[in-house]
Amino acid sequence: MEKFLNEFKSIKDDLVHISEELYQHPELGNEEFKSKQLLVNYLKKNNFKIEEGLNNIPTSFRATYTSDLPGPTIAYLAEYDALPGIGHGCGHNLIAVTSMGAGIALSKIMEQTGGTVIVLGTPAEESDGAKVLMAEQGIFNNIDVAMMAHPGGVSEESGATLALDAIQFAFTGKTSHAAAAPEQGINALDGVIQLFNGINALREHVTPDVRMHGVISEGGTAANVVPDYAVAQFYFRAETRRTLNEVVQKVKHIADGAAAMTGTTVELSNYELSNDNLVTNQHLSKQFMKNLRTVTNEPIQTKDKPSGSSDIGNVSQVVPAIHPIIGMNDKSLVPHTKRFADKTVTEDGRAFIKKGVLSLAQTGYDILTDSKLLETIKQEFDNNKSAGARLATYGLD
Ligand SMILES: [Zn+2]
Ligand SMILES: [Zn+2]
Repeated sequence: MEKFLNEFKSIKDDLVHISEELYQHPELGNEEFKSKQLLVNYLKKNNFKIEEGLNNIPTSFRATYTSDLPGPTIAYLAEYDALPGIGHGCGHNLIAVTSMGAGIALSKIMEQTGGTVIVLGTPAEESDGAKVLMAEQGIFNNIDVAMMAHPGGVSEESGATLALDAIQFAFTGKTSHAAAAPEQGINALDGVIQLFNGINALREHVTPDVRMHGVISEGGTAANVVPDYAVAQFYFRAETRRTLNEVVQKVKHIADGAAAMTGTTVELSNYELSNDNLVTNQHLSKQFMKNLRTVTNEPIQTKDKPSGSSDIGNVSQVVPAIHPIIGMNDKSLVPHTKRFADKTVTEDGRAFIKKGVLSLAQTGYDILTDSKLLETIKQEFDNNKSAGARLATYGLD
């Protein structure tokens, strides 16, 4: 850890400054052009080779530093999208500079260790998570491990997230005067209502990890006009992709039933990209925790139940990955709030950067210098894969 301390000191002010710039000028997912530019410029200044807009994802980037000696490839994932109306209420400004700082710190000692370090710019985590496409497109193929650290109120070991499908149901009927000629109308809103009723009936027969929550985004315009078009948008989540696929299969039947009952037709589509569940690589996580404990005395919680979903799930299906939380010294802090955003530019926010950079860089160093460690990490990944913990197919077909 000592070896990274000096390097951290020399970049610390820049990292804090860039994090504050992102905080001052938050950009939404897939619009993070200025944020990306700030990060890319700094990485370029630190001798990283830059590629921008990978595979038609305009605000993505890959910054690579390759040493003269062969060795593993370590990736640090940067997020830099903000939330509408709240700004950096999820602290992605801190994630961005911490992953970048860890990459730069590691690059400085790589002429001794060998290997390659990549800082990967992954846009739009809060909406259409780019990591989903990046995982599909093979961007992680030549990467040995992928790491990032997310800010939170208190520190938490890398745990699990829920698999998620975002499905839209568009019902089409036939408009008519609701009082003068109701017998000629087909009410599309009724299709939506029967869909809700069916899904509510299904709740009794799913495992407790399943989450089904939706809204009616279009439901007609006037009470005296039979709505000929109505739309519901749902999120469906479960602890594993396998369970979720089974639930979604049943929901499809419910949608067909709702259409049959009401004489409407229904069209299903994925309105956001699907997330797979996060499978934390335990060997990688253990190594990271060991390093985190050397830079903080705070208690570190273990996560017993997954709650949200994230595109890091898809990454963990193709490469050993971790997504730990590092606390900002505030038990009552709730993500996706203005208070959380403000916290990122306090002393506790700055402490997050230091803890994150040092523990992520040290974990990268451990992998570069201990081939046995990487072997056990990969072995675990392969074991999970053959045990069927992963199931990569998803979507509506
Ligand atoms: Zn968030
Ligand atoms: Zn987040």
